[in-house]
Amino acid sequence: MSMTNEGMVKGGEFLLREALGSEIFTPEDFTSEQRQIADTTETFVKNEIFPALEQMEGQDFALVVEKMRRCAELGLFLIDIPEEFGGLELDKATSMLVAEKIGPTGSFAITSSGQTGIGSLPLVYYGTAEQKQKYLEKLTTAEWVGAYCLTEPDCGSDPLSARTTATLSEDGTCYLLNGVKQFITNAAFADLFTVFAKIEGQHFSAFLVERSMPGLSIGNEEKKMGLKGTSTAQVVLDNVRVPVENLLGEAGKGHKIAFNVLNIGRLKLSATVVGAAKGAFSEAASYAVERKQFGQPLSSFGAIREKLADMAGSLFAAESLLYRVAGLLDERIATLDREGDDYYERYQKAIEEYAGECAIAKVFCSEALSFVADEALQIHGGYGYIKDYQVERYYRDARINRIFEGTNEINRLLIPTLFFRRADGGALDLWEQVNSVQSGICFENCEDAGGDSLFGPEFSLLANQKKLFLLLLSALGDRRKEQELLLALGDLSIAIYAMESSLLRADMIMPSANTSEQKKGLLQAVVRVIAFETAARFQLTASRCAAYGVQGPELVALQKTFARLGTYPAVGLLEAKHLLADAATESGAYLF
Ligand SMILES: Cc1cc2nc3c(=O)[nH]c(=O)nc-3n(C[C@H](O)[C@H](O)[C@H](O)COP(=O)(O)OP(=O)(O)OC[C@H]3O[C@@H](n4cnc5c(N)ncnc54)[C@H](O)[C@@H]3O)c2cc1C
Repeated sequence: MSMTNEGMVKGGEFLLREALGSEIFTPEDFTSEQRQIADTTETFVKNEIFPALEQMEGQDFALVVEKMRRCAELGLFLIDIPEEFGGLELDKATSMLVAEKIGPTGSFAITSSGQTGIGSLPLVYYGTAEQKQKYLEKLTTAEWVGAYCLTEPDCGSDPLSARTTATLSEDGTCYLLNGVKQFITNAAFADLFTVFAKIEGQHFSAFLVERSMPGLSIGNEEKKMGLKGTSTAQVVLDNVRVPVENLLGEAGKGHKIAFNVLNIGRLKLSATVVGAAKGAFSEAASYAVERKQFGQPLSSFGAIREKLADMAGSLFAAESLLYRVAGLLDERIATLDREGDDYYERYQKAIEEYAGECAIAKVFCSEALSFVADEALQIHGGYGYIKDYQVERYYRDARINRIFEGTNEINRLLIPTLFFRRADGGALDLWEQVNSVQSGICFENCEDAGGDSLFGPEFSLLANQKKLFLLLLSALGDRRKEQELLLALGDLSIAIYAMESSLLRADMIMPSANTSEQKKGLLQAVVRVIAFETAARFQLTASRCAAYGVQGPELVALQKTFARLGTYPAVGLLEAKHLLADAATESGAYLF
């Protein structure tokens, strides 16, 4: 039984109506308790993980496990665990904040999120009381390490085509698992594997498989580009006898486990990469001050200052968007009645509501990290290419984030597909709005916009972008289903969400008595940078999408409308960038 969801923000609704600042969760909303947990995590990472990173990068897995146990001692593995199993069951915002603080460690962040996320959550959400009793405490204390085995050599993006089989034994007491799982994080030292396999070659299901079960073996360590301190290897299953009581969830319903865990996994990954991007940003900002060329610090050159300002813009948008989604999940989860056997089913549904927003966060944040890490390395020049500098590791570790937890192509395609599916099912009145946009569209003028907010022009731009999105959908008709168009529609949704999340957050902080004049200036500057970048990207992508799907005079008219109504004047853009760059180099860290 759930309480009413009336008045709650619906998944995908941001495309259709103006959101209010008061509706969104921002990093400024963290309580002192949440900040304390973040500080504890940060201190632990600084004092115990960073000094051990080099040794862990050399694949000292005994040390990795030792550090995992230290994490557990601090309670960091209890955050998402239900209270009845000794957990803290904190909100998603706190869970993301902790993931962000561990994020700069790269390898260790992935190892530990393998434990707390994909390694434990399937059991938390779908395990029976007996299964949880047997395994959960072992995982939260890190006595055991967890791993998640979905990918196979021939099936990555299409996990339902798995070839691993589970055959019921003649006496009906166990399943015999056969197959090979590819690229499994934590494989070398994991004790419990959540393995996906098809019962009788047909019914996709999940199983809890212990390392000690005969027939399970681990392949050679993959030699990777980055994340060198993680273990990644094949898990080979050769007639592994798994007791029937270790079937996780219902037979034939493994897809639910795989996909639902991915929603939270994507958001956790977003938090981890925001943390890594902040780390890379700090390295770049301080290096720019230390390093001199032509008798001046790098930070005095416009070329370097522009990079720092753009990196700050990208990070502010990523952070705003990430915590907005975490807040949405928390708000909906908070309405659930904790009683009843179907609690986790309803919990999953609450998360699934925002599957599109989770995918947006994954794509935007992982690409923000790619951009920030790349520019941070560039600011280091040749030294950035040398292992003695942290930025070299940030750059290598960043790349995989666009590939795992669903590649960014798969996630981009998923975003509009999910929204269309919700609209087809009546959960979103998208098609009504697409039809009404044809009959008469009223656009706001960016330059003339007023209102109470200091961000009038930016709010008008945002309102126009939402209408242009509908106009484009209306012009595309059925062609919107082709992949090249879906990818563009995914990008437009991302641009709108990034712009709106940043804008609403800045607009909320601005009037606060706690906001200094300097911070107000920085907020105005960062919004200007984000609005300019988003407007440019939106226009380009919308024009491309129109060119793919619309012909003749209608195309020309559409592209003119995009140019006329999607342009952002960005008065004072250069001064805004100077302000952001100066603040970054003065503090040597991320500004907000
Ligand atoms: C370091 C590392 C750790 C990992 N950890 C784990 C783990 O712990 N557990 C686990 O189960 N897996 C893990 N993986 C696997 C990872 O999730 C997969 O690599 C990922 O899902 C992509 O699958 P793939 O590599 O087979 O690529 P493919 O699916 O072969 O994709 C190749 C390219 O084709 C594109 N593509 C594929 N299908 C489509 C389509 N329908 N439409 C458009 N484009 C498409 C992709 O976007 C990509 O660009 C890990 C991988 C690595 C490298």
